[in-house]
Amino acid sequence: MSAGPANTSELLHAQALTGRCTKHVQALAGTKLRLHPAVFAPLAAMSAAAAAEGIALEPVSGFRDFDHQLSIWNAKFRGERVLLGRDGEALQPRPQTEAGLIEAILLWSALPGASRHHWGTDLDVIDRAGLAPGAQPQLLRAEFAIDGPFGKLEAWLSAHSEEFGFYRPYDRDRGGVQPEPWHLSFAPLAQPALEALTLKVLQAALVGVDLAGAGTVLEQLPDIYERFVRGVARAGG
Ligand SMILES: [Zn+2]
Repeated sequence: MSAGPANTSELLHAQALTGRCTKHVQALAGTKLRLHPAVFAPLAAMSAAAAAEGIALEPVSGFRDFDHQLSIWNAKFRGERVLLGRDGEALQPRPQTEAGLIEAILLWSALPGASRHHWGTDLDVIDRAGLAPGAQPQLLRAEFAIDGPFGKLEAWLSAHSEEFGFYRPYDRDRGGVQPEPWHLSFAPLAQPALEALTLKVLQAALVGVDLAGAGTVLEQLPDIYERFVRGVARAGG
């Protein structure tokens, strides 16, 4: 149960990288979230520093397993869950081809097996102090605009998150996942995880899975992998 480097190797197994096991994550105290335990202390230190500036940094999403990501994917593909356009608006009409659907889903949702949330190193955060009582965070870019409820958090993270080992992989549109200012990644663990998640590992994770659009996904997997898995910011620039 010890945190630290000993657990890094456990994360780098294919099963952990693709969200197929939970040995590498533990409950984050006081929440329903799970994260890699090596993230706990840096997150607590970052939250304390933010609190000193009047920011109530709160994680709202952490570890997510393969089956959860699969259910999101299939629901979006089958029209049981709304698809979002680049500005976070409901996408109407829905794309008519499998390739179009896949492209639209990938703007905001990872392919099962390819979510950074599988690693326990990545989390989505808000500033509870910026929200009116009872208001629900939407995780939209408008909330992180300078005059939005999380504008102060956005500026603070840009200035200070790297001091605690965190950075934002979806910093801008790189032709893949849309910018997500709420998504933080703990670089010391996430960088090796990204290197270990090869195309082969991802391919193997999708064999025999009831994945909607599987034929087209597998055909396009090298391109999906480059754009939506590898096409992210690296820590420190
Ligand atoms: Zn996220």
